[in-house]
Amino acid sequence: MPSIGRPGILRRSLQPSVVAGSLVFALVAALAAGGLLRERHLLLEQAHEDAAMLASVLEENTARTFESVDIAIAGLAQHLASSKARRHDPAVRELMRAQLRHLPTVRALYIVGPDGFVQHDTDYPKTPDVSLADRSYFRAYLEAPTLQRHVSEALQSRSGTGWFVASSRRITRPDGSFGGVAVAAVQLGTVSHLYRKLGLGSGRQLTLFHKNGRVLAGFPHDSHVGRSYAQLPVFADFLHRGSSGQFETDGAPWKDMRRIVAYRALDTQPLVVVVAVQEADVLASWSRTATGVTIGLLLLAMAIGGVVLTFEQRQEQRRRAAADRVTATESAAVAERMRAIAAHLQEADQRKTQFLATLSHELRNAMGPVLNALSILDRSDPASAASRRARDIMREQVGQLRSLVDDLLDISRVNSGKVRLDLQRLDLGDVVGHAAAAAQAGIEALGHVLVLRLPDPPLWIVGDRARLAQVVANLLGNAAKYTPRGNGRIEVEVRREGSRALVSVRDNGLGIPAADLGKVFGMFEQVERHQSSSQGGLGIGLALVARLVALQGGEVAAHSDGDGRGSTFTVSLPLVENEPAPTPDGASLRA
Ligand code: ADP
Repeated sequence: MPSIGRPGILRRSLQPSVVAGSLVFALVAALAAGGLLRERHLLLEQAHEDAAMLASVLEENTARTFESVDIAIAGLAQHLASSKARRHDPAVRELMRAQLRHLPTVRALYIVGPDGFVQHDTDYPKTPDVSLADRSYFRAYLEAPTLQRHVSEALQSRSGTGWFVASSRRITRPDGSFGGVAVAAVQLGTVSHLYRKLGLGSGRQLTLFHKNGRVLAGFPHDSHVGRSYAQLPVFADFLHRGSSGQFETDGAPWKDMRRIVAYRALDTQPLVVVVAVQEADVLASWSRTATGVTIGLLLLAMAIGGVVLTFEQRQEQRRRAAADRVTATESAAVAERMRAIAAHLQEADQRKTQFLATLSHELRNAMGPVLNALSILDRSDPASAASRRARDIMREQVGQLRSLVDDLLDISRVNSGKVRLDLQRLDLGDVVGHAAAAAQAGIEALGHVLVLRLPDPPLWIVGDRARLAQVVANLLGNAAKYTPRGNGRIEVEVRREGSRALVSVRDNGLGIPAADLGKVFGMFEQVERHQSSSQGGLGIGLALVARLVALQGGEVAAHSDGDGRGSTFTVSLPLVENEPAPTPDGASLRA
Protein backbone atom coordinates (compact mmCIF):
# COMPACT_ATOMS: atom_id res chain seq x y z
CA MET A 1 0.00 0.00 0.00
CA PRO A 2 1.89 3.04 -1.17
CA SER A 3 0.38 5.53 1.21
CA ILE A 4 1.61 3.63 4.28
CA GLY A 5 4.79 5.67 4.11
CA ARG A 6 3.00 9.02 4.15
CA PRO A 7 4.67 10.99 6.92
CA GLY A 8 1.49 12.92 7.68
CA ILE A 9 -0.30 9.75 8.70
CA LEU A 10 2.65 8.16 10.47
CA ARG A 11 3.19 11.30 12.50
CA ARG A 12 -0.34 10.91 13.74
CA SER A 13 0.04 7.16 14.30
CA LEU A 14 -1.96 7.31 17.50
CA GLN A 15 -5.06 8.68 15.84
CA PRO A 16 -8.21 7.18 17.41
CA SER A 17 -8.97 5.32 14.17
CA VAL A 18 -5.55 3.61 14.28
CA VAL A 19 -6.06 2.66 17.92
CA ALA A 20 -9.57 1.34 17.22
CA GLY A 21 -8.35 -0.64 14.18
CA SER A 22 -5.49 -2.16 16.18
CA LEU A 23 -7.84 -3.09 19.00
CA VAL A 24 -10.28 -4.81 16.65
CA PHE A 25 -7.43 -6.70 15.03
CA ALA A 26 -5.87 -7.63 18.37
CA LEU A 27 -9.23 -8.90 19.62
CA VAL A 28 -9.89 -11.03 16.55
CA ALA A 29 -6.29 -12.31 16.53
CA ALA A 30 -6.47 -13.19 20.24
CA LEU A 31 -9.76 -15.05 19.76
CA ALA A 32 -8.41 -16.92 16.73
CA ALA A 33 -5.12 -17.80 18.47
CA GLY A 34 -7.00 -18.94 21.57
CA GLY A 35 -9.27 -21.15 19.46
CA LEU A 36 -6.33 -22.63 17.55
CA LEU A 37 -4.36 -23.41 20.70
CA ARG A 38 -7.37 -25.06 22.30
CA GLU A 39 -7.97 -27.12 19.17
CA ARG A 40 -4.31 -28.17 19.07
CA HIS A 41 -4.40 -29.21 22.70
CA LEU A 42 -7.57 -31.27 22.14
CA LEU A 43 -6.10 -32.96 19.07
CA LEU A 44 -2.90 -33.96 20.90
CA GLU A 45 -4.88 -35.18 23.88
CA GLN A 46 -7.05 -37.26 21.55
CA ALA A 47 -3.93 -38.66 19.86
CA HIS A 48 -2.54 -39.71 23.24
CA GLU A 49 -5.78 -41.49 24.07
CA ASP A 50 -5.90 -43.19 20.65
CA ALA A 51 -2.30 -44.37 20.92
CA ALA A 52 -2.89 -45.75 24.41
CA MET A 53 -6.02 -47.54 23.28
CA LEU A 54 -4.34 -49.01 20.22
CA ALA A 55 -1.41 -50.19 22.34
CA SER A 56 -3.89 -51.99 24.63
CA VAL A 57 -5.58 -53.67 21.67
CA LEU A 58 -2.21 -54.76 20.26
CA GLU A 59 -1.10 -56.08 23.62
CA GLU A 60 -4.24 -58.11 24.00
CA ASN A 61 -4.04 -59.56 20.47
CA THR A 62 -0.34 -60.31 20.69
CA ALA A 63 -0.68 -61.86 24.13
CA ARG A 64 -3.58 -64.02 22.92
CA THR A 65 -1.58 -65.19 19.90
CA PHE A 66 1.53 -66.08 21.85
CA GLU A 67 -0.45 -67.54 24.76
CA SER A 68 -2.33 -69.90 22.50
CA VAL A 69 0.96 -70.94 20.88
CA ASP A 70 2.50 -71.50 24.31
CA ILE A 71 -0.45 -73.54 25.51
CA ALA A 72 -0.15 -75.75 22.43
CA ILE A 73 3.59 -76.42 22.81
CA ALA A 74 3.26 -76.82 26.57
CA GLY A 75 0.71 -79.59 25.86
CA LEU A 76 3.10 -81.16 23.34
CA ALA A 77 6.03 -80.97 25.73
CA GLN A 78 4.03 -82.70 28.39
CA HIS A 79 2.75 -85.33 25.99
CA LEU A 80 6.20 -86.15 24.63
CA ALA A 81 7.97 -86.12 28.00
CA SER A 82 6.93 -89.70 28.71
CA SER A 83 6.39 -90.85 25.10
CA LYS A 84 8.50 -93.66 23.76
CA ALA A 85 7.70 -92.73 20.19
CA ARG A 86 10.50 -93.14 17.65
CA ARG A 87 11.78 -90.29 15.56
CA HIS A 88 9.40 -88.92 12.99
CA ASP A 89 6.62 -91.09 14.31
CA PRO A 90 3.65 -90.49 11.94
CA ALA A 91 1.21 -90.58 14.91
CA VAL A 92 3.06 -87.79 16.69
CA ARG A 93 3.30 -85.84 13.43
CA GLU A 94 -0.42 -86.17 12.96
CA LEU A 95 -1.05 -84.94 16.50
CA MET A 96 1.24 -81.95 15.91
CA ARG A 97 -0.37 -81.13 12.55
CA ALA A 98 -3.79 -81.21 14.25
CA GLN A 99 -2.43 -78.66 16.74
CA LEU A 100 -0.94 -76.57 13.96
CA ARG A 101 -4.31 -76.14 12.28
CA HIS A 102 -5.54 -74.17 15.30
CA LEU A 103 -2.53 -71.89 15.26
CA PRO A 104 -2.81 -69.63 12.21
CA THR A 105 0.33 -67.64 13.07
CA VAL A 106 2.55 -70.69 13.44
CA ARG A 107 4.36 -71.99 10.37
CA ALA A 108 5.66 -75.20 11.92
CA LEU A 109 5.91 -77.14 15.15
CA TYR A 110 8.89 -79.33 15.90
CA ILE A 111 10.42 -81.23 18.74
CA VAL A 112 14.18 -81.02 19.20
CA GLY A 113 15.83 -83.87 21.03
CA PRO A 114 18.39 -83.38 23.85
CA ASP A 115 21.11 -83.87 21.19
CA GLY A 116 19.83 -80.91 19.16
CA PHE A 117 18.45 -82.95 16.26
CA VAL A 118 14.85 -82.56 15.21
CA GLN A 119 12.84 -85.59 16.30
CA HIS A 120 9.34 -84.65 15.21
CA ASP A 121 8.42 -82.05 12.68
CA THR A 122 5.13 -80.98 11.14
CA ASP A 123 7.06 -80.30 7.93
CA TYR A 124 8.70 -83.69 7.69
CA PRO A 125 9.71 -85.17 5.31
CA LYS A 126 10.14 -81.83 3.41
CA THR A 127 12.92 -80.71 5.79
CA PRO A 128 16.02 -82.87 6.05
CA ASP A 129 17.35 -84.01 9.38
CA VAL A 130 19.03 -81.01 10.85
CA SER A 131 20.76 -80.20 14.10
CA LEU A 132 19.49 -77.12 15.86
CA ALA A 133 22.06 -77.45 18.64
CA ASP A 134 23.64 -74.15 17.61
CA ARG A 135 20.38 -72.24 17.87
CA SER A 136 20.33 -69.74 20.71
CA TYR A 137 16.92 -70.80 21.95
CA PHE A 138 18.10 -74.42 22.24
CA ARG A 139 21.33 -73.42 23.98
CA ALA A 140 19.33 -71.24 26.42
CA TYR A 141 17.84 -74.42 27.97
CA LEU A 142 21.28 -76.05 28.31
CA GLU A 143 22.70 -72.92 29.90
CA ALA A 144 19.77 -72.37 32.30
CA PRO A 145 18.57 -75.78 33.65
CA THR A 146 15.55 -74.15 35.31
CA LEU A 147 14.36 -72.38 32.14
CA GLN A 148 10.91 -73.67 31.27
CA ARG A 149 9.81 -71.48 28.40
CA HIS A 150 11.53 -69.16 25.96
CA VAL A 151 10.72 -66.74 23.19
CA SER A 152 13.57 -66.06 20.77
CA GLU A 153 14.46 -62.93 18.87
CA ALA A 154 13.53 -62.71 15.22
CA LEU A 155 15.16 -65.53 13.30
CA GLN A 156 15.51 -66.19 9.65
CA SER A 157 14.45 -69.64 8.59
CA ARG A 158 17.04 -71.78 6.87
CA SER A 159 14.57 -72.64 4.17
CA GLY A 160 14.21 -68.88 3.40
CA THR A 161 10.55 -68.62 4.25
CA GLY A 162 11.00 -65.38 6.16
CA TRP A 163 11.29 -64.19 9.72
CA PHE A 164 9.95 -66.15 12.63
CA VAL A 165 10.11 -66.30 16.40
CA ALA A 166 10.79 -69.55 18.12
CA SER A 167 8.42 -69.93 21.02
CA SER A 168 9.54 -72.98 22.98
CA ARG A 169 9.01 -75.13 26.10
CA ARG A 170 11.42 -77.42 27.93
CA ILE A 171 10.55 -81.14 27.84
CA THR A 172 11.32 -82.68 31.21
CA ARG A 173 11.34 -86.49 31.39
CA PRO A 174 9.62 -88.27 34.29
CA ASP A 175 13.06 -88.83 35.85
CA GLY A 176 13.64 -85.07 35.67
CA SER A 177 16.27 -85.20 32.92
CA PHE A 178 16.34 -82.86 29.89
CA GLY A 179 14.16 -84.39 27.22
CA GLY A 180 14.56 -81.70 24.57
CA VAL A 181 12.53 -78.68 23.48
CA ALA A 182 9.08 -78.25 21.91
CA VAL A 183 9.23 -75.36 19.43
CA ALA A 184 6.62 -73.33 17.52
CA ALA A 185 7.88 -71.16 14.67
CA VAL A 186 5.62 -68.11 14.91
CA GLN A 187 5.61 -66.39 11.53
CA LEU A 188 6.31 -62.74 12.02
CA GLY A 189 4.72 -61.97 8.67
CA THR A 190 1.32 -62.92 10.07
CA VAL A 191 1.90 -60.71 13.13
CA SER A 192 2.82 -57.81 10.81
CA HIS A 193 -0.33 -58.49 8.87
CA LEU A 194 -2.38 -58.22 12.03
CA TYR A 195 -0.62 -54.91 12.88
CA ARG A 196 -1.19 -53.64 9.36
CA LYS A 197 -4.92 -54.24 9.72
CA LEU A 198 -5.03 -52.36 13.04
CA GLY A 199 -2.82 -49.44 12.04
CA LEU A 200 -4.06 -48.93 8.53
CA GLY A 201 -4.32 -45.40 7.23
CA SER A 202 -3.70 -43.76 10.57
CA GLY A 203 -0.12 -42.55 10.17
CA ARG A 204 0.76 -44.65 13.17
CA GLN A 205 3.78 -46.85 13.64
CA LEU A 206 2.98 -50.20 15.30
CA THR A 207 5.92 -52.33 16.39
CA LEU A 208 6.36 -55.56 18.30
CA PHE A 209 9.71 -55.64 20.09
CA HIS A 210 11.48 -58.31 22.00
CA LYS A 211 12.01 -56.86 25.42
CA ASN A 212 15.74 -56.61 24.61
CA GLY A 213 14.89 -53.91 22.04
CA ARG A 214 15.04 -55.93 18.83
CA VAL A 215 12.23 -55.55 16.34
CA LEU A 216 10.07 -58.65 15.80
CA ALA A 217 7.33 -57.30 13.62
CA GLY A 218 5.87 -54.00 12.69
CA PHE A 219 3.81 -51.81 10.49
CA PRO A 220 4.62 -49.99 8.26
CA HIS A 221 8.33 -50.88 8.74
CA ASP A 222 8.62 -54.67 8.85
CA SER A 223 11.90 -54.19 7.00
CA HIS A 224 13.33 -53.23 10.42
CA VAL A 225 12.79 -56.78 11.73
CA GLY A 226 15.86 -58.03 13.55
CA ARG A 227 17.33 -54.58 14.22
CA SER A 228 18.01 -53.43 17.74
CA TYR A 229 16.37 -50.28 19.01
CA ALA A 230 17.52 -50.66 22.58
CA GLN A 231 18.42 -46.95 22.58
CA LEU A 232 14.76 -45.93 22.19
CA PRO A 233 13.44 -44.13 25.28
CA VAL A 234 10.97 -46.97 25.77
CA PHE A 235 13.79 -49.40 26.53
CA ALA A 236 16.34 -46.91 27.80
CA ASP A 237 14.05 -45.16 30.30
CA PHE A 238 10.44 -46.09 30.48
CA LEU A 239 10.29 -49.87 30.85
CA HIS A 240 12.28 -49.59 34.07
CA ARG A 241 9.56 -47.44 35.53
CA GLY A 242 6.49 -49.42 34.56
CA SER A 243 5.21 -52.04 32.14
CA SER A 244 2.97 -49.55 30.32
CA GLY A 245 2.79 -45.85 29.70
CA GLN A 246 2.96 -43.08 27.17
CA PHE A 247 5.16 -40.10 26.46
CA GLU A 248 6.23 -37.59 23.82
CA THR A 249 9.68 -37.54 22.33
CA ASP A 250 11.76 -36.12 19.55
CA GLY A 251 14.88 -37.98 20.64
CA ALA A 252 16.83 -40.55 18.57
CA PRO A 253 16.03 -42.10 16.22
CA TRP A 254 13.15 -39.73 15.67
CA LYS A 255 15.16 -36.52 15.55
CA ASP A 256 13.09 -33.43 14.66
CA MET A 257 9.96 -35.51 14.31
CA ARG A 258 8.04 -35.27 17.49
CA ARG A 259 6.09 -38.41 18.32
CA ILE A 260 3.46 -39.46 20.73
CA VAL A 261 4.38 -42.93 21.99
CA ALA A 262 2.34 -45.51 23.93
CA TYR A 263 3.88 -48.85 25.02
CA ARG A 264 2.76 -52.04 26.78
CA ALA A 265 5.02 -54.86 27.96
CA LEU A 266 3.26 -58.24 27.89
CA ASP A 267 2.85 -59.95 31.25
CA THR A 268 3.62 -63.49 30.26
CA GLN A 269 5.93 -63.00 27.26
CA PRO A 270 9.19 -61.06 26.86
CA LEU A 271 7.43 -58.85 24.33
CA VAL A 272 6.70 -55.14 24.13
CA VAL A 273 4.20 -53.47 21.81
CA VAL A 274 4.84 -49.84 20.88
CA VAL A 275 2.52 -47.41 19.09
CA ALA A 276 4.09 -44.18 17.81
CA VAL A 277 2.25 -41.34 16.10
CA GLN A 278 3.91 -38.36 14.45
CA GLU A 279 2.68 -35.16 15.97
CA ALA A 280 2.90 -33.56 12.50
CA ASP A 281 0.41 -36.18 11.22
CA VAL A 282 -1.94 -35.58 14.12
CA LEU A 283 -1.75 -31.83 13.53
CA ALA A 284 -1.81 -31.97 9.72
CA SER A 285 -5.35 -30.72 9.30
CA TRP A 286 -4.93 -28.36 12.24
CA SER A 287 -1.83 -26.89 10.57
CA ARG A 288 -3.84 -26.28 7.43
CA THR A 289 -6.50 -24.55 9.51
CA ALA A 290 -3.83 -22.53 11.33
CA THR A 291 -2.30 -21.48 8.01
CA GLY A 292 -5.77 -20.53 6.79
CA VAL A 293 -6.44 -18.55 9.95
CA THR A 294 -3.05 -16.80 9.67
CA ILE A 295 -3.77 -15.85 6.07
CA GLY A 296 -7.23 -14.72 7.16
CA LEU A 297 -5.70 -12.57 9.91
CA LEU A 298 -3.24 -11.07 7.44
CA LEU A 299 -6.10 -10.24 5.09
CA LEU A 300 -8.05 -8.82 8.01
CA ALA A 301 -5.04 -6.71 9.04
CA MET A 302 -4.74 -5.44 5.47
CA ALA A 303 -8.46 -4.72 5.31
CA ILE A 304 -8.44 -2.88 8.66
CA GLY A 305 -5.25 -1.05 7.63
CA GLY A 306 -6.93 -0.09 4.35
CA VAL A 307 -10.03 1.19 6.10
CA VAL A 308 -7.95 3.13 8.65
CA LEU A 309 -5.73 4.58 5.92
CA THR A 310 -8.68 5.60 3.78
CA PHE A 311 -10.32 7.15 6.81
CA GLU A 312 -7.11 8.96 7.77
CA GLN A 313 -6.57 10.17 4.22
CA ARG A 314 -10.07 11.60 4.15
CA GLN A 315 -9.47 13.21 7.54
CA GLU A 316 -6.17 14.56 6.25
CA GLN A 317 -7.86 15.96 3.16
CA ARG A 318 -10.51 17.55 5.33
CA ARG A 319 -7.88 18.96 7.66
CA ARG A 320 -5.94 20.37 4.72
CA ALA A 321 -9.04 21.85 3.14
CA ALA A 322 -9.95 23.42 6.49
CA ALA A 323 -6.36 24.67 6.92
CA ASP A 324 -6.45 26.11 3.37
CA ARG A 325 -9.71 27.87 4.19
CA VAL A 326 -8.24 29.24 7.41
CA THR A 327 -5.11 30.37 5.55
CA ALA A 328 -7.22 32.11 2.93
CA THR A 329 -9.31 33.80 5.60
CA GLU A 330 -6.21 34.71 7.55
CA SER A 331 -4.43 36.18 4.54
CA ALA A 332 -7.54 38.20 3.70
CA ALA A 333 -7.63 39.46 7.27
CA VAL A 334 -3.89 40.22 7.18
CA ALA A 335 -4.30 42.09 3.91
CA GLU A 336 -7.19 44.03 5.42
CA ARG A 337 -5.10 44.88 8.47
CA MET A 338 -2.19 45.94 6.28
CA ARG A 339 -4.50 48.22 4.30
CA ALA A 340 -5.85 49.72 7.52
CA ILE A 341 -2.32 50.23 8.89
CA ALA A 342 -1.20 51.79 5.61
CA ALA A 343 -4.20 54.12 5.63
CA HIS A 344 -3.54 54.98 9.24
CA LEU A 345 0.14 55.68 8.56
CA GLN A 346 -0.76 57.76 5.57
CA GLU A 347 -3.20 59.74 7.65
CA ALA A 348 -0.66 60.16 10.45
CA ASP A 349 1.87 61.32 7.89
CA GLN A 350 -0.61 63.82 6.50
CA ARG A 351 -1.35 65.05 9.98
CA LYS A 352 2.35 65.45 10.70
CA THR A 353 2.86 67.43 7.48
CA GLN A 354 -0.18 69.50 8.36
CA PHE A 355 1.20 69.96 11.88
CA LEU A 356 4.54 71.21 10.57
CA ALA A 357 2.72 73.66 8.29
CA THR A 358 0.57 74.80 11.21
CA LEU A 359 3.58 75.09 13.50
CA SER A 360 5.43 77.23 10.94
CA HIS A 361 2.28 79.29 10.45
CA GLU A 362 1.88 79.78 14.22
CA LEU A 363 5.53 80.72 14.67
CA ARG A 364 5.30 83.14 11.79
CA ASN A 365 2.05 84.60 13.16
CA ALA A 366 3.78 85.32 16.42
CA MET A 367 6.99 86.59 14.79
CA GLY A 368 5.20 89.14 12.56
CA PRO A 369 3.73 91.26 15.38
CA VAL A 370 7.00 90.98 17.36
CA LEU A 371 9.02 92.33 14.42
CA ASN A 372 6.47 95.11 13.89
CA ALA A 373 6.63 96.05 17.56
CA LEU A 374 10.43 96.10 17.43
CA SER A 375 10.44 98.52 14.53
CA ILE A 376 7.92 100.74 16.40
CA LEU A 377 10.21 100.66 19.45
CA ASP A 378 13.15 101.66 17.25
CA ARG A 379 11.27 104.70 16.02
CA SER A 380 9.37 105.79 19.12
CA ASP A 381 10.12 107.35 22.40
CA PRO A 382 10.35 104.55 24.94
CA ALA A 383 7.91 106.36 27.21
CA SER A 384 5.38 106.99 24.47
CA ALA A 385 2.03 105.19 24.30
CA ALA A 386 3.11 103.58 20.98
CA SER A 387 6.16 102.06 22.64
CA ARG A 388 4.04 100.73 25.52
CA ARG A 389 1.60 99.26 23.09
CA ALA A 390 4.48 97.66 21.15
CA ARG A 391 5.90 96.12 24.35
CA ASP A 392 2.44 94.76 25.28
CA ILE A 393 2.14 93.15 21.85
CA MET A 394 5.60 91.59 22.17
CA ARG A 395 4.78 90.27 25.68
CA GLU A 396 1.49 88.79 24.47
CA GLN A 397 3.05 87.13 21.40
CA VAL A 398 6.07 85.75 23.29
CA GLY A 399 3.63 84.45 25.93
CA GLN A 400 1.68 82.67 23.21
CA LEU A 401 4.88 81.23 21.81
CA ARG A 402 5.85 79.98 25.26
CA SER A 403 2.48 78.29 25.82
CA LEU A 404 2.80 76.71 22.37
CA VAL A 405 6.23 75.32 23.23
CA ASP A 406 4.96 74.25 26.68
CA ASP A 407 2.11 72.29 25.09
CA LEU A 408 4.56 70.59 22.72
CA LEU A 409 6.90 69.65 25.54
CA ASP A 410 3.99 68.43 27.70
CA ILE A 411 2.48 66.23 25.06
CA SER A 412 5.81 64.61 24.30
CA ARG A 413 6.36 63.99 28.02
CA VAL A 414 2.87 62.49 28.41
CA ASN A 415 3.36 60.31 25.34
CA SER A 416 6.66 58.94 26.61
CA GLY A 417 5.22 58.37 30.13
CA LYS A 418 7.59 60.86 31.75
CA VAL A 419 4.95 63.05 33.43
CA ARG A 420 5.03 62.76 37.22
CA LEU A 421 1.79 63.75 38.86
CA ASP A 422 1.62 65.23 42.32
CA LEU A 423 -1.64 63.57 43.39
CA GLN A 424 -3.45 64.82 46.44
CA ARG A 425 -6.91 65.27 47.86
CA LEU A 426 -8.28 68.45 46.34
CA ASP A 427 -11.35 70.65 46.57
CA LEU A 428 -12.23 70.63 42.87
CA GLY A 429 -14.22 73.90 43.07
CA ASP A 430 -11.20 75.63 44.57
CA VAL A 431 -8.87 74.41 41.78
CA VAL A 432 -11.30 75.38 39.03
CA GLY A 433 -12.05 78.75 40.67
CA HIS A 434 -8.35 79.68 40.70
CA ALA A 435 -7.81 78.58 37.12
CA ALA A 436 -10.84 80.58 35.94
CA ALA A 437 -9.70 83.63 37.85
CA ALA A 438 -6.30 83.39 36.13
CA ALA A 439 -7.93 83.21 32.70
CA GLN A 440 -10.59 85.81 33.36
CA ALA A 441 -8.65 88.88 32.18
CA GLY A 442 -7.72 87.24 28.88
CA ILE A 443 -11.31 86.15 28.30
CA GLU A 444 -12.75 89.50 29.07
CA ALA A 445 -10.12 91.16 26.86
CA LEU A 446 -11.77 89.37 23.96
CA GLY A 447 -15.12 90.81 24.97
CA HIS A 448 -16.57 87.60 26.51
CA VAL A 449 -18.43 87.19 29.77
CA LEU A 450 -17.18 84.51 32.16
CA VAL A 451 -19.75 82.93 34.47
CA LEU A 452 -18.53 80.64 37.25
CA ARG A 453 -20.70 78.26 39.29
CA LEU A 454 -18.98 76.37 42.13
CA PRO A 455 -20.50 73.72 44.42
CA ASP A 456 -21.33 74.01 48.06
CA PRO A 457 -20.34 71.90 49.94
CA PRO A 458 -17.03 71.32 48.15
CA LEU A 459 -16.42 68.22 46.04
CA TRP A 460 -13.29 66.27 46.92
CA ILE A 461 -11.23 64.47 44.33
CA VAL A 462 -7.69 63.15 44.06
CA GLY A 463 -5.59 64.88 41.42
CA ASP A 464 -2.63 67.07 40.54
CA ARG A 465 -3.55 70.71 41.22
CA ALA A 466 -1.31 72.22 38.53
CA ARG A 467 -2.32 69.71 35.85
CA LEU A 468 -6.03 70.17 36.60
CA ALA A 469 -5.57 73.95 36.39
CA GLN A 470 -3.80 73.38 33.04
CA VAL A 471 -6.77 71.35 31.80
CA VAL A 472 -9.27 74.07 32.80
CA ALA A 473 -7.09 76.83 31.33
CA ASN A 474 -6.85 74.90 28.06
CA LEU A 475 -10.62 74.42 27.81
CA LEU A 476 -11.25 78.09 28.67
CA GLY A 477 -8.63 79.19 26.15
CA ASN A 478 -10.37 77.15 23.42
CA ALA A 479 -13.81 78.50 24.44
CA ALA A 480 -12.52 82.07 24.16
CA LYS A 481 -10.66 81.31 20.93
CA TYR A 482 -13.54 79.61 19.13
CA THR A 483 -16.21 82.15 20.11
CA PRO A 484 -16.55 85.29 18.00
CA ARG A 485 -15.24 88.41 19.77
CA GLY A 486 -17.62 90.65 21.59
CA ASN A 487 -20.70 88.64 22.40
CA GLY A 488 -19.32 85.48 23.97
CA ARG A 489 -20.68 83.90 27.11
CA ILE A 490 -18.48 81.30 28.72
CA GLU A 491 -19.85 79.31 31.65
CA VAL A 492 -17.77 77.20 33.98
CA GLU A 493 -19.60 74.90 36.35
CA VAL A 494 -18.45 72.39 38.94
CA ARG A 495 -21.12 69.94 40.09
CA ARG A 496 -21.74 66.47 41.37
CA GLU A 497 -23.33 63.66 39.42
CA GLY A 498 -23.64 60.43 41.40
CA SER A 499 -20.20 59.37 42.55
CA ARG A 500 -18.42 61.71 40.16
CA ALA A 501 -17.47 65.38 40.10
CA LEU A 502 -18.01 67.18 36.77
CA VAL A 503 -16.35 70.31 35.42
CA SER A 504 -18.09 71.72 32.34
CA VAL A 505 -16.88 74.58 30.18
CA ARG A 506 -19.68 75.85 27.93
CA ASP A 507 -19.48 78.55 25.25
CA ASN A 508 -21.91 79.98 22.69
CA GLY A 509 -19.29 80.07 19.94
CA LEU A 510 -18.60 78.34 16.61
CA GLY A 511 -19.57 74.90 17.78
CA ILE A 512 -18.26 71.67 16.32
CA PRO A 513 -19.84 69.70 13.46
CA ALA A 514 -21.12 66.29 14.63
CA ALA A 515 -18.72 64.50 12.27
CA ASP A 516 -15.71 66.11 13.97
CA LEU A 517 -16.80 65.64 17.60
CA GLY A 518 -15.12 62.22 17.88
CA LYS A 519 -11.82 63.47 16.48
CA VAL A 520 -11.08 66.65 18.40
CA PHE A 521 -9.15 64.78 21.14
CA GLY A 522 -6.73 63.26 18.59
CA MET A 523 -3.17 64.53 18.15
CA PHE A 524 -2.85 67.36 15.60
CA GLU A 525 -6.59 67.20 14.97
CA GLN A 526 -8.21 70.51 14.04
CA VAL A 527 -11.61 71.18 12.66
CA GLU A 528 -11.07 72.22 9.04
CA ARG A 529 -13.07 75.46 8.90
CA HIS A 530 -11.58 76.78 12.10
CA GLN A 531 -8.14 76.42 10.72
CA SER A 532 -9.05 78.35 7.63
CA SER A 533 -10.31 81.09 9.87
CA SER A 534 -6.90 80.91 11.54
CA GLN A 535 -7.77 80.69 15.18
CA GLY A 536 -4.21 79.71 16.03
CA GLY A 537 -3.12 76.53 17.85
CA LEU A 538 -1.45 73.29 16.81
CA GLY A 539 -4.23 70.77 17.39
CA ILE A 540 -2.57 69.27 20.44
CA GLY A 541 -4.35 71.13 23.27
CA LEU A 542 -7.32 68.75 23.59
CA ALA A 543 -5.10 65.68 23.10
CA LEU A 544 -3.07 66.88 26.08
CA VAL A 545 -6.27 67.56 28.06
CA ALA A 546 -7.58 64.03 27.41
CA ARG A 547 -4.29 62.40 28.45
CA LEU A 548 -3.86 64.48 31.61
CA VAL A 549 -7.44 63.78 32.71
CA ALA A 550 -7.01 60.05 32.03
CA LEU A 551 -3.79 60.01 34.11
CA GLN A 552 -5.88 61.26 37.06
CA GLY A 553 -8.54 58.58 36.65
CA GLY A 554 -11.03 60.74 34.80
CA GLU A 555 -12.41 61.27 31.33
CA VAL A 556 -13.39 64.16 29.10
CA ALA A 557 -16.22 64.46 26.54
CA ALA A 558 -17.14 67.05 23.91
CA HIS A 559 -20.66 68.06 23.03
CA SER A 560 -22.01 70.53 20.44
CA ASP A 561 -25.37 71.08 18.84
CA GLY A 562 -23.55 71.89 15.60
CA ASP A 563 -22.09 74.76 13.59
CA GLY A 564 -22.52 78.14 15.35
CA ARG A 565 -24.37 76.66 18.33
CA GLY A 566 -21.63 76.58 20.89
CA SER A 567 -19.65 73.72 22.51
CA THR A 568 -19.50 72.08 25.90
CA PHE A 569 -16.47 70.19 27.23
CA THR A 570 -17.08 68.12 30.36
CA VAL A 571 -14.35 66.61 32.57
CA SER A 572 -15.52 63.84 34.92
CA LEU A 573 -13.45 62.71 37.95
CA PRO A 574 -14.21 60.14 40.68
CA LEU A 575 -15.26 61.62 44.02
CA VAL A 576 -13.38 60.64 47.18
CA GLU A 577 -15.79 62.11 49.73
CA ASN A 578 -15.69 59.13 51.99
CA GLU A 579 -11.96 58.56 51.69
CA PRO A 580 -9.87 59.22 54.81
CA ALA A 581 -8.14 62.60 54.98
CA PRO A 582 -4.70 62.61 53.34
CA THR A 583 -1.52 62.45 55.38
CA PRO A 584 -0.12 65.94 55.98
CA ASP A 585 2.49 65.66 53.25
CA GLY A 586 0.08 63.87 50.85
CA ALA A 587 2.65 61.11 50.41
CA SER A 588 0.09 58.32 50.36
CA LEU A 589 -1.57 59.84 47.33
CA ARG A 590 1.50 60.52 45.30
CA ALA A 591 1.63 58.68 41.98
P1 ADP B 1 -5.99 73.95 18.72
O1 ADP B 1 -4.63 74.24 19.08
O2 ADP B 1 -6.24 73.91 17.26
O3 ADP B 1 -7.00 74.71 19.47
P2 ADP B 1 -7.05 71.82 20.25
O4 ADP B 1 -6.59 70.42 20.39
O5 ADP B 1 -7.13 72.61 21.47
O6 ADP B 1 -6.18 72.45 19.14
O7 ADP B 1 -8.48 71.77 19.59
C1 ADP B 1 -8.70 70.96 18.52
C2 ADP B 1 -9.76 71.51 17.61
O8 ADP B 1 -11.04 71.43 18.24
C3 ADP B 1 -9.58 72.95 17.34
O9 ADP B 1 -8.79 73.16 16.22
C4 ADP B 1 -11.00 73.41 17.13
O10 ADP B 1 -11.36 73.28 15.80
C5 ADP B 1 -11.86 72.50 17.96
N1 ADP B 1 -12.28 73.16 19.20
C6 ADP B 1 -11.71 73.08 20.41
N2 ADP B 1 -12.40 73.73 21.34
C7 ADP B 1 -13.45 74.29 20.71
C8 ADP B 1 -14.55 75.10 21.11
N3 ADP B 1 -14.72 75.52 22.41
N4 ADP B 1 -15.48 75.47 20.19
C9 ADP B 1 -15.34 75.09 18.91
N5 ADP B 1 -14.33 74.29 18.44
C10 ADP B 1 -13.39 73.91 19.35
